Amino acid sequence: MNVIIFGPPGAGKGTQAQNIVKKFNLHQVSTGDLLRTEIKNKSEIGNEIEEIISKGDFATDDVVNKLIKNIVFDPQKKDKLIFDGYPRSLSQAKNLDLLLGSSNQKIDFIFFLNVNKNTIIKRIEKRKILENRSDDDLNTILKRFDSYMETTRPVLDFYSKNKNFLEIDGTQEIEEITSKIDTFINV
Ligand code: AMP
Repeated sequence: MNVIIFGPPGAGKGTQAQNIVKKFNLHQVSTGDLLRTEIKNKSEIGNEIEEIISKGDFATDDVVNKLIKNIVFDPQKKDKLIFDGYPRSLSQAKNLDLLLGSSNQKIDFIFFLNVNKNTIIKRIEKRKILENRSDDDLNTILKRFDSYMETTRPVLDFYSKNKNFLEIDGTQEIEEITSKIDTFINV
């Protein structure tokens, strides 16, 4: 089973992805985490993207697609992937389709956590205190939300007609969302 968890920054994608990982024994693929690891390791990619990410802009599709390719083709992770924060653009969505198709895989479930802008601002300001992420200050949050609306939201049209697509009100309690996801997967 491969899953995409989709939504704006601060929607709770990471939290829900971790729950699904535990329950269904999947591998979480968070491009945000992968990029932060590159930055921490001061790799070539890391140095290239550090400033971009701290300003709230997206890493290029090329960089992200490269990181994803290794994972999709990893035989240990085949058909056990949950994508969190990827795809974030139409070009990434098409790339993912190609990579999955050429490795004999598909997406089985797509969950869209829908959360309004005010809730996102409140949540991310709280996360800033807990996780001290450099891209969690107010200006950067607003920038990230704009990038989401402009570049990521259109990806919904690509997936929303799929019968395995479920939109969930992401302002609900964590457990409520988890239970909706579980029910949808288990039907
Ligand atoms: P996240 O942890 O998913 O909120 O991602 C943190 C930041 O990493 C984003 O604001 C982007 O700058 C960058 N990033 C994460 N995933 C992607 C992606 N799929 N494409 C481009 N940039 C990304």
